Amino acid sequence: VIILDGKTTSEKILSDLKIRLEEMSSKPCLAVILVGDNPASQIYVRNKQKRAKELGIESRLISCPQNLQKDELLAIIQNLNADKSVTAILLQLPLPAHLDAFDFISQISPEKDVDGFTPYNLGMLMSARNGFANACTPKGIMRLLEEYKIPLEGRHAVVVGRSNIVGKPLALMLLEKNATVTIAHSKTRNLAQITKCADILIAAAGKSGLITADMVKEGAVVVDVAINRGHDGKLCGDVDFENVKNKVSAITPVPGGVGPMTIAMLMENTVDMFLC
Ligand code: NAD
Repeated sequence: VIILDGKTTSEKILSDLKIRLEEMSSKPCLAVILVGDNPASQIYVRNKQKRAKELGIESRLISCPQNLQKDELLAIIQNLNADKSVTAILLQLPLPAHLDAFDFISQISPEKDVDGFTPYNLGMLMSARNGFANACTPKGIMRLLEEYKIPLEGRHAVVVGRSNIVGKPLALMLLEKNATVTIAHSKTRNLAQITKCADILIAAAGKSGLITADMVKEGAVVVDVAINRGHDGKLCGDVDFENVKNKVSAITPVPGGVGPMTIAMLMENTVDMFLC
């Protein structure tokens, strides 16, 4: 079995980026908005800022209280849109329940939308055109599959999960590479029957233990996007890694698979948007 090593692959991408950045006379600036005190979000934001710093990308953290009001968040976004020293804006999700993410994402200037979540950038992806940026997690998955030369054309890819940030954009990217794509979700009946047909199986449901060995086709390529906290407190994905790995041709570990690729793509988007 081939372990699709996102850690090593992302380090290569980051070291290339570092060289590009060293040659640039002015540097991009990434603004990160964090609302509330979600512990996972705090860790993600810290990691993103740490990476940015290592590369010489300036980053700015706008940390807001849990009870932030809608008009306050809109004002923060408007200020960052107008601020010429800020070249990329990231709104860390999820937001507290009283705030609807779409109301705010849709107000970010598309040319600063480093996550590729604005209607403009998602619409460009839907239209098979280059927007300013593509969503980091799906983009990172595609890059990892490319790195390991996993063929996609004509193959059946099953994406478990239909969120706007992972499942849906990933399905579009796979289609663009001529895969035959099925999207499964929480209301899908007979999930196992569908996953068993997958040449490429992507698990992005956020349910540990969801994908067991009997749900996977012999020789399939399995990508586990999820980051769950297991009973033992350790990080795990949706896939029963230990049993599934004996059946498949390639699989991503959790951690060390999709996670580091996501951060690498965020950094790459920050640099590419600055240059275009
Ligand atoms: P989400 O909760 O928005 O979406 C989950 C999707 O899974 C939904 O579309 C839902 O219909 C589907 N689903 C839930 N239970 C299911 C079931 N039993 N069977 C089939 N489908 C089911 O989550 P998200 O933001 O898309 O993230 C998904 C997972 O990926 C989470 O674990 C998250 O932490 C992780 N994630 C990882 C990265 C990374 O960088 N590695 C980035 C983003 C998200």
